[in-house]
Amino acid sequence: MIEELDKKFVLHTYARNYVNFKKGINATLFDDKDRDYIDFTSGIGVVSVGHGNKEVAEAICKQAQNIMHISNLYAIEPQAKLGEKIAKLSNMDVRTFFANSGAEANEGAIKIARKYGKTKYDGKRYKVITLEHSFHGRTITTVKATGQSSFHSPNFAPYPEGFSYNSAIDDIYNSIDDETVAVMIELVQGEGGVQPFKKEAVQELAKFLKERDILLIIDEVQTGAYRTGEFLASNLYEIEPDVITMAKGLGGGVPIGAVITTHKDIFEAGDHGSTFGGNYLCTASANKVLELLEAYKDSGKLDEAIIYFGEKLKETFEKNQNIFTEQVGLGLMRGLRVKDADHLKEVIKKAFEEGVLVLKAGRNTLRLLPPLTISKEEIDEGFKRLNNALSKIS
Ligand SMILES: *Cc1c(COP(=O)(O)O)cnc(C)c1O
Repeated sequence: MIEELDKKFVLHTYARNYVNFKKGINATLFDDKDRDYIDFTSGIGVVSVGHGNKEVAEAICKQAQNIMHISNLYAIEPQAKLGEKIAKLSNMDVRTFFANSGAEANEGAIKIARKYGKTKYDGKRYKVITLEHSFHGRTITTVKATGQSSFHSPNFAPYPEGFSYNSAIDDIYNSIDDETVAVMIELVQGEGGVQPFKKEAVQELAKFLKERDILLIIDEVQTGAYRTGEFLASNLYEIEPDVITMAKGLGGGVPIGAVITTHKDIFEAGDHGSTFGGNYLCTASANKVLELLEAYKDSGKLDEAIIYFGEKLKETFEKNQNIFTEQVGLGLMRGLRVKDADHLKEVIKKAFEEGVLVLKAGRNTLRLLPPLTISKEEIDEGFKRLNNALSKIS
């Protein structure tokens, strides 16, 4: 039924699994046959505080019964409060623009960079450097910013100009020229293979760019909202970028994006906008999500979950040396590199059959992004099921 409807009426942009999830409790999902699954994906890093979170549901419900939406032509109290919260948690002197997704947040960041080059350098600076294996979104501009040629399909050409790619942070120095306005990177490449960069290399780059007045944009769409153990991966790396973007885990499942910048006066009325961006509903949700995650972090429980998850991951890695070559990632953004990229699809399929949801990243990485609030019992059960699945790989 669901399969038939989906195939008939929904555009086929995903290789879909036909399971019908009906209910979720924290990191456990139940399908229409009441079968349970441990969720090591959290909807690609979105459901940061778990499925069916009662406190978030209540905050959304209360807001929905009052006002869901008024345009951005009027001040929106939960939006202003969320901006304040982001500034406080990031420990930076910033203002935020609210969008609806990661790609849109990155569009906003690129617009900030272009306006900076236009107003301060008379338009002579406009080029943005990104990295190979990066992922910045699916709009025409952010797909072009994404440094993976497989994403630059001729089907959607022509793409906007002004983007170039480097294979590593150390190579960026040589490709900077008089026209470079910004460098945009992730601190842990998510879609590219759960690859963290070295703190010293990032700090050095940040310093170099600051000296040359080139903007550093950090795409924290996946790493933000405590995914790596701190509010922002930028906090963990101890850098102060010019622009930071967030989305995925920020709303706990409600669509929201954020463009956070130290250039507080870069935009004026009319420069940028969004109909839905930062409305009452999504910002009420994000305020509750951040309130919960801040308390969770302060109680020490987030760090406990990260350590425990890491131990189980290590055990799994060591037990399956025939399949994996390396453990990668940070915080609750983790991965296992497979020896044989062709095996990955089979691992994900077998894991699903055993009742644990896992993701792929890049060509050869099994990616794990559990809800940050995952319990020890759920971690135990998830890894038990994953190991069962791995034992069945030939
Ligand atoms: C997911 C992701 C995006 C795109 O976010 P959407 O909400 O899908 O537009 C951009 N950058 C990074 C690092 C991401 O992980």
